[in-house]
Amino acid sequence: MSSSSSSSSNHEQAYGINLWSRGYFTIRDGELVVNHRSSPALNSILHQIQQQGHHGPAILRFPHIIQSQIEQLHRTFATAIETYRYEGKFRAVFPMKVNQFPEVLRSVIALGTPYRHGLEAGSKAELILAMALTPYGHPIKVNGFKDEEIIRLGFFAAKQGHDITLTIEGIEELQMIIAISATLPATAPRPKIGIRLRLHSRSGGHWIRSSGFNSKFGLTSPELIEAIELLRTSALLPKLTMLHFHVGSQQKDITPFKRALKEAANVYADLKRIGATALSSINIGGGLPIEYGQQSNELRSNYSLQEFANDVVFLLKEVMENKGVETPDIISESGRFLVAHHAVCITQVLELFSQEFNKRILRMKESNPPLVQELYELAKSINRSNCVEFLHDALDHQESLMTLFNLGYIDLHDRANAEILVQQIIKQTLALHDNLPGADLECMQEQLKEYYLLNSSFFQSLPDNWGLDERFPVIPLTGLNIRPSRSVSLWDITCDSDGEISFDPKAPLYFPAIQLDQGAHHLAFCNVGAYQETLGMRHNLFAHPSEFTVEIDDHGFTITHSEATESVAATLSNLGYDRTAILQGLEAERDPEALHWLRQLLNRGGYLRPHPQS
Ligand SMILES: *Cc1c(COP(=O)(O)O)cnc(C)c1O
Repeated sequence: MSSSSSSSSNHEQAYGINLWSRGYFTIRDGELVVNHRSSPALNSILHQIQQQGHHGPAILRFPHIIQSQIEQLHRTFATAIETYRYEGKFRAVFPMKVNQFPEVLRSVIALGTPYRHGLEAGSKAELILAMALTPYGHPIKVNGFKDEEIIRLGFFAAKQGHDITLTIEGIEELQMIIAISATLPATAPRPKIGIRLRLHSRSGGHWIRSSGFNSKFGLTSPELIEAIELLRTSALLPKLTMLHFHVGSQQKDITPFKRALKEAANVYADLKRIGATALSSINIGGGLPIEYGQQSNELRSNYSLQEFANDVVFLLKEVMENKGVETPDIISESGRFLVAHHAVCITQVLELFSQEFNKRILRMKESNPPLVQELYELAKSINRSNCVEFLHDALDHQESLMTLFNLGYIDLHDRANAEILVQQIIKQTLALHDNLPGADLECMQEQLKEYYLLNSSFFQSLPDNWGLDERFPVIPLTGLNIRPSRSVSLWDITCDSDGEISFDPKAPLYFPAIQLDQGAHHLAFCNVGAYQETLGMRHNLFAHPSEFTVEIDDHGFTITHSEATESVAATLSNLGYDRTAILQGLEAERDPEALHWLRQLLNRGGYLRPHPQS
């Protein structure tokens, strides 16, 4: 027993939990557990929701993780502000595009209330939602391209008493603001105005086009000067309070961000000096990175949150002191960092496609070709001390047997037996030997892939895997005390070959050997709380999975909210089909029992209903 804790931490390493979980999850007694208060196993949570009748993929939300991330962001900046005696406040808004689901926004607003955490909207629908949800006194920022209606909404929100800032992305937007403002009495409330800066500095990462001269967003320096003139002549200069930049998401290297910050700080100071005296804040956008990789050799972020906060505070202070300008308030629009960790997508393994090599279907003949017979003997007598040697023999024999087959010396039956036996020898070697030479391992990864079929759509639940090749951490809920020795590829249930996460020798995925006839087996995709849910698409008409909010205390856990996946009927009516017409079409079926069953199907979700396992 004394070795159990060290072997469990070895297995944590195997799944990279220390790399991607930020301490929110851990392994206990071979199960994946939430590392908080009573530390429930995800499998127990799954069990409870299944007892409530749930099947199919499930998104579990853990609000305490959102709370912890919000607190870390605000506390870290508070520390930096204190350390550098910075005269300016730190404020933050949550960019809604990262996850607009009601439970997420509810958590962000409720748990962010001590810090008056606000919302950032980038579209008409998001702005309307932000106005409805944001408590007065919490900021609302509006980015993105705007039409007159969005700008009018901004004026409306200001009239209602919201602390709202319209960040202009171009001169035309400013002209619309000026035109609407001109129709109002001088004393009428107006939204604050922000200007997004088109950075010269380029960022790194996939979202490189979020910044740089050719970026889709923001004003160039001639436009900045023109904007100040326009604001001055329309008496709106006192409304210009914020300068904004955003370098793009997932900034793993801090250097481009620092360069952009210096550039923005200098622009800020100069704008103040040419008359934008109401300017009082710099909005530093988002971009704080999240670790998704499960392997220590993958590219990792090169800075901590504290280093980031220190750099922001120090650099702003330095530039403002040099230029004799008051230090601005700092506004963060961090999104991914706040919510990525809070959601886990749990999915059931429906089938294993390496089963064809099971012992059960080995059918040795009365008399076998000598090499096949020899493979049989190897498989029977393999042990810890001879396994590497036997493995090499088996792989050698396999090559020879393939040649014999192609020359017509052995038949299909012999070949099938040989393949089964070689697979068995590989599996046994993996189980017996925990430190195989690299060349052997590589060869075996090729030979022995397990294909897991998952009750899930990667297009719906991991769209960034399809669109950006992002690898999300994935880990079985149970069996984590068994050494993960099988190389694994994952298939979803869409009829699309892109719905596959294939074994990648550069970021290999290994799971323990499992038998599905011994009980249901589930995997957790972690860190899926940012961008995946609303980017997810209904390819093959698989809808957003059922979701469950889980609150944990010292005694256990409570499911405080659940939302079943969309019914088949709702999915079809989303496409524009008329539900009644569909039912009428089905009603050609006269058998009342069959009709009842059809109606039931329509009212349930579209994921597979696996056979209950014994
Ligand atoms: C998307 C976006 C963010 C959020 O970025 P994260 O990398 O998720 O923190 C912040 N600001 C703007 C303007 C954005 O477009």
